[in-house]
Amino acid sequence: MEAPSSERKAEIAKNLFEVNAIIKGKKQQRSSLEDARLVAVSKYKPASDIQAAYESGQRHFGENYVQELCEKAPVLPKDIQWHFTGRLQSNKCKILVAIPNLWAVETIDSATKAQKLDEAWKSTGHARQLNVYVQVNTSKEENKGGVEKHAVEDVVRTINETCKNLRMLGLMTIGSIEGSHQRPNPDFLALVELRDGLKAKLGVELELSMGMSDDFDHALELGSSNVRVGSKIFGSRPPKD
Ligand SMILES: *Cc1c(COP(=O)(O)O)cnc(C)c1O
Repeated sequence: MEAPSSERKAEIAKNLFEVNAIIKGKKQQRSSLEDARLVAVSKYKPASDIQAAYESGQRHFGENYVQELCEKAPVLPKDIQWHFTGRLQSNKCKILVAIPNLWAVETIDSATKAQKLDEAWKSTGHARQLNVYVQVNTSKEENKGGVEKHAVEDVVRTINETCKNLRMLGLMTIGSIEGSHQRPNPDFLALVELRDGLKAKLGVELELSMGMSDDFDHALELGSSNVRVGSKIFGSRPPKD
């Protein structure tokens, strides 16, 4: 891997500083005393950009493609905490869990896939559990991944009761483009409501993974505990993603 240039390092450090300042500034508005977790989404960006962000102190990174993650992870520091944020295919679970510092899979979209991932993680012999989020299709769009709202309870229950190698961390949504322009964002509200309902019904405490570059500040106001920010840190990506 090529070392990041000093210009690029300075640029990424400045962007990270600004994003982190917003996260810290929103803390007073949330009941939790902890800062939300910042996941730097680095898809399509070179490993040198990730290295630059790492050198500024960033540790959680998100990738959307298994192959891209498998190429980057081995050439980057081993204490990076990787989040898989792309569409999960059953036949890729084995390859994904081979990444030793995989920290979370944010895109569980069925009970069957959770069980596949559970089996795969078990076979690696890790002592720790793999964190997972159930992705919710809050906007009911056909082309969006995720579990329909009414089916989320069943998936959460299955993970809690049968997937001993997974840790049920929370709910995740991407949300629709239209919703992202509304305040409050209806997709974020739907995720909050779902989380509250599951707490009342099952007694489970779930985190919320919501908010991207254009709306993470708003997501934090609604109680997001995990924001996924790409272009605000690394600059724009080629279109079509
Ligand atoms: C690409 C992506 C992000 C980051 O998007 P930005 O708008 O660049 O911040 C966040 N979450 C998921 C699931 C993504 O695919």
